[in-house]
Amino acid sequence: MTKAHHPPTGGFRNPWGDDATQGLRSIFKWKVIDRFTRPPARAPDPAPFPVAVPSFPVPRAPLDRLVLTWVGHATFLLQVGGLNLLTDPIWSERASPVQFAGPRRRVAAAVPFAGLPPIDAVLLSHNHYDHLDDRTVRRLAAAHPQARWLVPLGLAPFVRQRGARDALELDWWEETRVGELAIGCTPARHFSSRGLGDRNRTLWCGWSVAAPARQVYFAGDTAYHPEFAAIADRFGPFHAALLPIGAYEPRWFMRSVHMNPEEAVRVYQDLERGRPPIAGRVALMVAMHWGTFQLTDEPLDEPPKRARAAWRGAGFDPNRLWIPTHGESRTI
Ligand code: ZN
Ligand code: ZN
Repeated sequence: MTKAHHPPTGGFRNPWGDDATQGLRSIFKWKVIDRFTRPPARAPDPAPFPVAVPSFPVPRAPLDRLVLTWVGHATFLLQVGGLNLLTDPIWSERASPVQFAGPRRRVAAAVPFAGLPPIDAVLLSHNHYDHLDDRTVRRLAAAHPQARWLVPLGLAPFVRQRGARDALELDWWEETRVGELAIGCTPARHFSSRGLGDRNRTLWCGWSVAAPARQVYFAGDTAYHPEFAAIADRFGPFHAALLPIGAYEPRWFMRSVHMNPEEAVRVYQDLERGRPPIAGRVALMVAMHWGTFQLTDEPLDEPPKRARAAWRGAGFDPNRLWIPTHGESRTI
């Protein structure tokens, strides 16, 4: 595969050539100028979303099953191939460098931290605060010291400095093993930064996790791009695709970093198009990255409505779209 995402000047970039600027000028336009020139977005529904009582197997799921539990936002407990994995874990109250300001959780983490089963691996997609939380990394490293941390290029020092003993960096398309699992690092169209002057110094990615009986894809934080079919060719086909459906307005700013629900359905189509049926494979789309933190301008409850409408519009089997309730588990 090409290394077009490695610019000669260092750091990383999206190789698809059409990135809008999302620098300070764009943030100023979105957060300041637009506030005075456009009608405000409808206030989000203040009613909390329903929260399910978690019902995942403890300590582990059967070898031939995949159990998905949505903790909230992009945090999932994945139980696959007899191992327990977490994606982009955040248990903190705010997705922010400080806990007195920044986006606050609208729904508490739906699995209590102390109720987690033994964690064998943690998958990180990138360094934004809603995906990489300092305090959660420290808590996990202390409570689950045996976990292997799989991170995109440049992020291993961050987790090692917070106590992770076993951290491995991967580039897009690289693969490693954790026990019986083959875990692949996939391209994503996004960016990284946690502060001033660190833009795109570390990589962003998604992950595929393949056990002998089940394969799952976690897209991370990504805009639409042309390589989802290639991801399924290389690492699929998948029994479940965890795709972000929230944080998409305003489009002029977000379209190059986050997909909207219609694009998420298109990604599912890209992943599935032309795949021969395999007995027992259901190819579930699992919606994530919504309903937890108010990061952008669309109402917090809009993404699932639009995802369901786009799914119906595409003519897909309604049983193959799963928009979990916070805390809900499903076994595949
Ligand atoms: Zn992000
Ligand atoms: Zn995000």
